[in-house]
Amino acid sequence: MDAKTVGKQLKEELCLNPKNMGDVLPQEEIQKAMEFCEGYKAFLNAGKTEREASAYLVKILKEHGYEPFDYHKKYEAGAKVYYHNRSKALIMAVIGTQPIENGVNIIASHIDSPRLDLKPRPLYEEAQFGMFKTHYYGGIKKYQWTAIPLSLHGVVMTKDGKKVEVSIGEEAGDPVFCVTDLLPHLAADQMKRSLQEGIKGEELNVLVGSLPFKDDEVSERVKLNLIRLLNEKYGMTEADFMTAELEMVPSFPAKDLGLDRSMVGSYGQDDRVCAYTSFMASLECQAPKRTLVTVFADKEEIGSDGNTGLNSSFLRYFIADLAKPYGVEGRTVLSHSTCLSADVNAGFDPTFPEVSEKNNTAYLNYGVVISKYTGARGKSGTSDASAEFMGEVSRILNEDHVIWQIGELGRVDQGGGGTVAQYVANLNVDVVDVGVPVLSMHAPFEVTAKLDVYMTYRAFAAYAKSDR
Ligand code: MN
Ligand code: MN
Repeated sequence: MDAKTVGKQLKEELCLNPKNMGDVLPQEEIQKAMEFCEGYKAFLNAGKTEREASAYLVKILKEHGYEPFDYHKKYEAGAKVYYHNRSKALIMAVIGTQPIENGVNIIASHIDSPRLDLKPRPLYEEAQFGMFKTHYYGGIKKYQWTAIPLSLHGVVMTKDGKKVEVSIGEEAGDPVFCVTDLLPHLAADQMKRSLQEGIKGEELNVLVGSLPFKDDEVSERVKLNLIRLLNEKYGMTEADFMTAELEMVPSFPAKDLGLDRSMVGSYGQDDRVCAYTSFMASLECQAPKRTLVTVFADKEEIGSDGNTGLNSSFLRYFIADLAKPYGVEGRTVLSHSTCLSADVNAGFDPTFPEVSEKNNTAYLNYGVVISKYTGARGKSGTSDASAEFMGEVSRILNEDHVIWQIGELGRVDQGGGGTVAQYVANLNVDVVDVGVPVLSMHAPFEVTAKLDVYMTYRAFAAYAKSDR
């Protein structure tokens, strides 16, 4: 049978026919995707907080000849600069050959992830246990954070003004911590609570130690012993907790997931998967036509507020400073700029099909996801990309044979969410969300498919070199 029926022919020409990339990608490309994700896992393991993730990227930027941005300088085409905002957010830029007033290509991801922050006075003793009080950061299902190994990350400012970096629980042989949960035998009352209340915010207490300091003359000796240990290791006292930034994150490393190793399971893939893919694509983009500005923002998980979040002015100021030596206003540059808001979307979960609408949800292994809008209810809280810009982005991806799909975050009125897209759009920039579909988003162990990760990298690479 070589002749196609007319109907078959028409269907091929006119109808959408999404395919699993495992069926359509050549073996070499599948192999490349697997190899690409080795670097991705290393990044996930090295950067479990926005500070660590941005420091890891800055180190690589320096090795590749990127220089700290100097707003006095007029940069030539091909110049590579970076701006590390308060050690938590990062902008990298490659100056293009086109005049800056033509606008720039922006890719904006975020490198903060949901976690348990320590309260300013976290340490207490109860029933001869040393415990940390926490305040969760970002949208979490609290019950998921009990009875898993946690590690402690962050910075402590000592009285003499030194910044001490803390990391306990990542190295082989390191101790870890955990939030305890009730045994089922005694959980009859707890089990009657709603899932939302199963573990309450004030029950997210971390177990830190149990042995008392040997001295009958003092009280709270377990607590004293723990402060003594922290003092030995980091030179800190209890007062230093009040000014510190300390966070509990899952201590397990990123792993291949599945017998076929087709997926990555790890903490913090929202949104370090888009950070890594956009970083690699930008790093490999030599001498683009339009200046390429790649942003790794903080604070997205709590609404993008704060001076390291994209609802602040740091991106706007960076663009203005970049443009000034050419005699161009920042607003002129922004008004001609475009942006891919690089963030994950929910992938279809076979166990919970009822929250998605099957034709407009993203599927793992079906390619990079374009989300025209996010938000909730009647498109509240979204920038909603225009048809013109959607068309432009789709042409850029199609020209480079990037496999993409469309994705909406759940059924209408099921819930919703937002990204940094709206904040960049508010600067008069054309923006659309592009990223990787994820299962178990915001859980301590999130799931992505390696082919999607790789295709997202290819999408950012296509956009990075595009000049519309
Ligand atoms: Mn995100
Ligand atoms: Mn998120």
